[in-house]
Amino acid sequence: MTITWSIASNPGRVRNRNEDSAFPVADGSAQEVVIAVADGMGGHIGGEVASQLAVRAAIAAADRDAADRVRVANEAIMSEALRKRHLSGMGTTLTLALFAGDTVSIGHVGDSRAYRWRDGELVQLTRDHSLVMEYLAAGRITEEEALDHPQRNILTRALGLEWRMPVDELVEHLRAGDRYLLCTDGLTTMVTDEGIADLLDENRLPQEAAWALIEAANLAGGDDNVTVAVIDISA
Ligand code: CA
Repeated sequence: MTITWSIASNPGRVRNRNEDSAFPVADGSAQEVVIAVADGMGGHIGGEVASQLAVRAAIAAADRDAADRVRVANEAIMSEALRKRHLSGMGTTLTLALFAGDTVSIGHVGDSRAYRWRDGELVQLTRDHSLVMEYLAAGRITEEEALDHPQRNILTRALGLEWRMPVDELVEHLRAGDRYLLCTDGLTTMVTDEGIADLLDENRLPQEAAWALIEAANLAGGDDNVTVAVIDISA
């Protein structure tokens, strides 16, 4: 399988800082590619530091599986927050995809997302660790109410909250023609899944698709930092 990708990040139209981070790393022949997106939180500079630390620690954890890399990132944030008082309380989401051979393994904590787009159908692979998602699963609110729920920013899991943070893990088989999307909630709170699917369909190159998604989030208001990684699989 050949893997090509593009990553784009933008502060949006409302905020003046970008607390999102994203990073790809590939070996020389791109047989193994790791791509991570993170959405930091925690006043002053905490959010930026947490998301950057998370992607760096996860990418640097060579020879670990996807979920393990997320655990390593969590430990890096926990220890840094202990060492530096002004960073205490920082946290971040982290969604990481490790492409190797004919599989992708995903490690995930928080409300950033991984999607697969195959044969024109967009499937959300990860589950948001948010209060609103729990309400939705329990039938306490409708999908419509979830979209602009006042508590939609509250996460039930994030890196930096506790040492033994449970990490979601999944493995998918790759098919030529698959397109994967990793993104922060700055995209998914602004653009519907249908809108995302249309843009993935209309834009052939990963870099075109990535920028089209960023542009759509900003056209819809750009309330939040937005980061997307579009990853194409070909034979
Ligand atoms: Ca965000």
